[in-house]
Amino acid sequence: MLYIEVKTKERETLVNITGVISALVENSGIKNGICIVYVPHTTAAITINESADPDVVRDIIDRLKELVPHKGDYAHSEGNSDAHIKASIIGNSRIIIVENGKLALGTWEGIFLCEFDGPRTRKVFVKII
Ligand code: ZN
Repeated sequence: MLYIEVKTKERETLVNITGVISALVENSGIKNGICIVYVPHTTAAITINESADPDVVRDIIDRLKELVPHKGDYAHSEGNSDAHIKASIIGNSRIIIVENGKLALGTWEGIFLCEFDGPRTRKVFVKII
């Protein structure tokens, strides 16, 4: 298993990690298979979505904030229940097909680490098989 570290700069942000994941795939020597991208944190997530227009990322963050406000009547005493809920909605992993030594992503797609309780340093596990 490989891993990368990502330093996030805001409480809620999506960080494009496509380039570093692509490099890991290209350096792995695996031509055809799958790449699993997994975040081992309970207040972060992984998604694949449009990377060309940054307004898409902003809209995702803004609508999630509306759906699950930071402050509210939550039981969890850490004060970050919204982050746990947002992480569960998005999910903690994605699987991408590796074809001819490259990630088989759509033209406008990017892989994002979703931070919901930053800023922090996050690990992302990567398994290419
Ligand atoms: Zn918590």
